[in-house]
Amino acid sequence: MLKRFFSYYRPYRKLFLLDFGCAVLAGLLELTFPVSVNVVIDRIMPMNNFRYILLACLGLFLFYLINTGLQYIVVYFGHKLGVNIETDMRKELFTHLQKQSFTYYDNQKTGKLISRLTTDLFEISEVAHHGPEDIFITIMTMTGAFFLMYQMHAALAIATIILVPFIILALYFFNQKMTQVNTDIYDTIGEFNSGVEAAVSGVRVTQSFANEPFENTRFRALSERYRQAKIRFYQVMAVSSSYNYLFIRLINLFALLFGSYYTIKGELLTGQFVSFILLANVFVRPIEKINTMIESYPKGIAGFKRFIEELDRPLMVTDRVDAKELSTVKGDIVYDHVSFSYGESHQVLQDLSLTIKAGETVAFVGESGSGKTTLCNLLPRFYEATDGAITIDGEDIQSFTLESLRRKIGTVQQDVFLFPGTIRENIAYGKLSATDAEISQAVRLAHLDQVISQMEQGLDTVIGERGVKLSGGQKQRVAIARMFLKNPPILILDEATSALDTETEQVIQESLDTLAHGRTTLIIAHRLATVQHADRIIVVSPNGILEQGSHEELLKQQGAYQKLYDAQFRTLA
Ligand code: ADP
Repeated sequence: MLKRFFSYYRPYRKLFLLDFGCAVLAGLLELTFPVSVNVVIDRIMPMNNFRYILLACLGLFLFYLINTGLQYIVVYFGHKLGVNIETDMRKELFTHLQKQSFTYYDNQKTGKLISRLTTDLFEISEVAHHGPEDIFITIMTMTGAFFLMYQMHAALAIATIILVPFIILALYFFNQKMTQVNTDIYDTIGEFNSGVEAAVSGVRVTQSFANEPFENTRFRALSERYRQAKIRFYQVMAVSSSYNYLFIRLINLFALLFGSYYTIKGELLTGQFVSFILLANVFVRPIEKINTMIESYPKGIAGFKRFIEELDRPLMVTDRVDAKELSTVKGDIVYDHVSFSYGESHQVLQDLSLTIKAGETVAFVGESGSGKTTLCNLLPRFYEATDGAITIDGEDIQSFTLESLRRKIGTVQQDVFLFPGTIRENIAYGKLSATDAEISQAVRLAHLDQVISQMEQGLDTVIGERGVKLSGGQKQRVAIARMFLKNPPILILDEATSALDTETEQVIQESLDTLAHGRTTLIIAHRLATVQHADRIIVVSPNGILEQGSHEELLKQQGAYQKLYDAQFRTLA
């Protein structure tokens, strides 16, 4: 883990060396003060010459000036180094999360992921900046101070630092304990954030059920867990810092006690004694510093552990090493004995085989939950088939890079997701480099022009989070416009017209027909009326494909399709 942590310093080697070097130099200069005091008291004062004292002080003043400069460099560049590392870690985690499969997101809470990217890494910059520096300076200052003390009076020096092993043990123990408690805290923050996220995005449902008191209670429970976890942390911290405080004071006290003893015995001059006390102060300073940093280290370590854990979670769908670009697509699709299950137990598709010719429009019908969506989601590899293979133009989709495969397949989902921003930005999501002319054309083809012309800001109208300021039909059309821009040779339409009024439905149907023209199209149909003109209708059941053919052929067969048709016809009538 340590090696992993230090690998993040690699891009900032110069910054690190600058910060580290200055910090070490500053630490060394700190040692000069007690030594000078010794010289001033024991050698210069007896000379009764104030000029020398002034000179000595002037020299010290110079040291302090240098140290001031060093201080600035360490605080500014050191923190800059820390923040850079924190940012890099965040970027890396974000990129990793972007590559995680649908299965991963099916089982994750949004709030938890957000806190992994934000809160978890807040303290890492402090650790990255102070960590290596503090360890080195602690060792250096303590050794240096001890060496000088030892030179003055060996027995006194040893007596003074006799308690140090206890401090080291305590630091180690409490640090581990606090890291553990902090991991719990981050866990609760994750829970807390997902609770808040769910409550905020579900507030409309809450209000419609007048369930605010219930939500308040739920929120209080979450807050309480967070509060408890934090209190536990401060409990450990209180014990740790009091313990350290006591031992630091004991070191000072021992220096005073044994120092006066040896001074009275005549083994030590007064100046040496004062200097010794000051050195003992320098000796304990790093411990004091660690004591004040004790809050951020365990937080940083806990955060880094969680960061690594998330980063090491394997990607379920990735490019094969020999993956190649899918460039030109004719559009022949074959499902060859494909099986798929979401978990261990639930087999959704079993040994399914299917051929779709280039340019064909195929509609999947069947009862809800029969696996139509799942079947289509396997094509862009949102989920990976557990068995069998799917080919495009005769080549296994797994042999292509995910990026190139997904560029060639467009999906219009039933539940349209729009990003916060303007309509223009949301349409251009289909082709980030789209020109104004291309966007206008997409708007026309998706029959959005009238809607947009009625808006004051036109294409630059802000549509609210997830497009709350648009109607269901308008959102659908934005999604279709997006697809015209993307212009993929293969299209998957999760038919969503069931939620719309007849007029809107017709408009959308028209644009969908235009969109499907000349592309291999897979339609997930919820209503039979809209797919009667498909080249082929495939009836899917939890047991696989029941029958397939054109609308007329299937009706003639008087099988499953006819039953579905009759059922819908009856409910419609
Ligand atoms: P359809 O599109 O025909 O309504 P789906 O393909 O959505 O059917 O679902 C097929 C089955 O798989 C259903 O039983 C559903 O509960 C299950 N299922 C769908 N999506 C997931 C998922 N992300 N995780 C686990 N099970 C799922």
